[in-house]
Amino acid sequence: MTFNEGLQIDPDRVSSGGGPGKGGGLVLGGGAVGIIVLIATLLLGGDPGSVLGQFTGADSQGEGGTAQTPEHCKTGADANKYADCRVVLTVQSLDGVWSTELAKQTTKRYTEPKVTLFSGQVSTGCGRASSAVGPFYCPADQTAYFDTSFFQELKDRFGSSGGPLAQEYVVAHEFGHHIQNLLGDLGKAQSDPQGAESGAVRTELQADCYAGVWAYYADKLPAPNSNEPFLKPLTENDIRDGLSAASAVGDDRIQKASTGRVNPEAWTHGSSDQRQKWFLTGYRTGQVKACDTYSARDLNNPPALKQ
Ligand SMILES: [Zn+2]
Repeated sequence: MTFNEGLQIDPDRVSSGGGPGKGGGLVLGGGAVGIIVLIATLLLGGDPGSVLGQFTGADSQGEGGTAQTPEHCKTGADANKYADCRVVLTVQSLDGVWSTELAKQTTKRYTEPKVTLFSGQVSTGCGRASSAVGPFYCPADQTAYFDTSFFQELKDRFGSSGGPLAQEYVVAHEFGHHIQNLLGDLGKAQSDPQGAESGAVRTELQADCYAGVWAYYADKLPAPNSNEPFLKPLTENDIRDGLSAASAVGDDRIQKASTGRVNPEAWTHGSSDQRQKWFLTGYRTGQVKACDTYSARDLNNPPALKQ
């Protein structure tokens, strides 16, 4: 129950089903690993080869899916009840926070990414993708894609708590990649795509940190045309839910569950511990500059957490 109940859900903010993607993403970039990082930045780690197999070619048959926000999503109360409505209102909250804070804290202005809810398969500017890849952001069409069944999986398969902030963190992480795209940082993952200290890991941890920055403001900044913020004051329990999601998608935890061992050389997203720490860094400071994972000497000890 984190959203203020009376908030209105914008019926036009997200689209459902497959959007008419542009295609072409797959011809860019160098080796296979570079391509994946370029085309889409995922929430989950895993073997890039198998992930690439799930993006099959550029989109050729836009499904013309122009369905909008699901009809049962009208207010904050619905967002507290249904996972799909929660994604939409989290998106509106992210727009609110970043349209204010990005201009205030950086030299860039915020533009809204597109958001598509899908189930099964979807055509994107990065090729066709299935639910199996998990939530992702495609820079080629500046769109974040969510299969809402993932949130159930986050709980059942990855062992996250089922709390609302666990889901909201996932949405905020993908928006973190959009912010990186606007700031020109997304390419740093591409040039150095794998390993415990890699550009990819630093990019993912920064997206976690940006998710924390959103959480810092989401219960403070009033929603547009309202004097209430999107979220009710976050409790320690809420933050625990966010941390449990960050932890559930850590490379070490996923590797251990799938192969029984941990191999930092194959990391693309950072460990469970690192993902939680960087989320907290953003949440405690509310500062984009505190999320500078690229200059951090020790990813296990974010400088801002020491103070
Ligand atoms: Zn990511």
